[in-house]
Amino acid sequence: MTRMRGRFAPTPSGLMHIGNARTALLAWLHVRSEDGQFVLRMEDIDTPRCKPELAEQALADLRWLGLDWDEGPNVGGPFAPYVQSERIPMYEEALHRLEQDGRLYPCYCSRAELMAIASAPHGLGSEGPAYPGTCRSLTREEQARRAETKMPSLRFRVPDEAMSFVDLTAGEQRFPPGSGGDFVVRRADGIISYQLAVVADDAAMGITDVLRGYDLLDSTPRQLMLYEALGLPAPRFAHVPLLNGTDGKRLAKRHGAISLAGLRQAGVAPERIVGWLAAMSGLLDRPEPVSTKELIRAFRLDLIPKEPVVVTDEQLAALTHN
Ligand code: GLU
Repeated sequence: MTRMRGRFAPTPSGLMHIGNARTALLAWLHVRSEDGQFVLRMEDIDTPRCKPELAEQALADLRWLGLDWDEGPNVGGPFAPYVQSERIPMYEEALHRLEQDGRLYPCYCSRAELMAIASAPHGLGSEGPAYPGTCRSLTREEQARRAETKMPSLRFRVPDEAMSFVDLTAGEQRFPPGSGGDFVVRRADGIISYQLAVVADDAAMGITDVLRGYDLLDSTPRQLMLYEALGLPAPRFAHVPLLNGTDGKRLAKRHGAISLAGLRQAGVAPERIVGWLAAMSGLLDRPEPVSTKELIRAFRLDLIPKEPVVVTDEQLAALTHN
């Protein structure tokens, strides 16, 4: 049997907060409990949104929390580099393959035109409204004419087939044919999309298991289509329910959701945060200080609640005060 390989792939566009820390912890426990290998990959592909200081900070925060990785930035490994901004040629190669197979087309729609697609059917919740295929069948002449005034994005032609997959925590998922519409794999400004980069990387890095937040469940059918189009084996997926505030919205700054750096500065011990996150994830009955390593033996995916976890203000406060 191949050894399990999992990863955590933060985007350094903000400080690591407790929601990110929880995903990182669960992904790490999932891998460590199976004696697998853990990869850290920095997803800074959207360079205008990302900052190198935040990438350094994320690595420092995760180490402070008690996580480690077998491969990653500053550590190296057989699939280096582990920083997306240094892997562009690999994404270009994947794009080239898709293009040669006729799976892509240039899209000249403006932002305003795209915004006007109010509520197309089969939108994937977190992915915005479905693209109606405006540029799908432009003739070569039309493409050439549009190209005179606009740099196109590149879209993947979504096959007209239903999609399904079995998620290790969320269960069976079904998506109707054409779900989400044709999606962008390279933006008009040349930036490679998350969908393409994540597939190229997880495949190249031999990732067998992706554990990530439920907010990315909707991205998975798109990623599975790319695996198939590129002839690459897909990993198993486990999408863990998010931590929400009492208003039912994802825990965020307005709830006072706190950054790891802030907690550290306030003198909160990492074991306390780990224990709190474990209690919020069905791994401990009560939030009591614990090291990441102490959680490995008892970890099981099926302990993680299937519904979003509502975090009350008191529970949040308990993270920082006695
Ligand atoms: N970089 C993504 C994020 O921070 C995660 C990607 C993934 O786990 O597939 O939201």
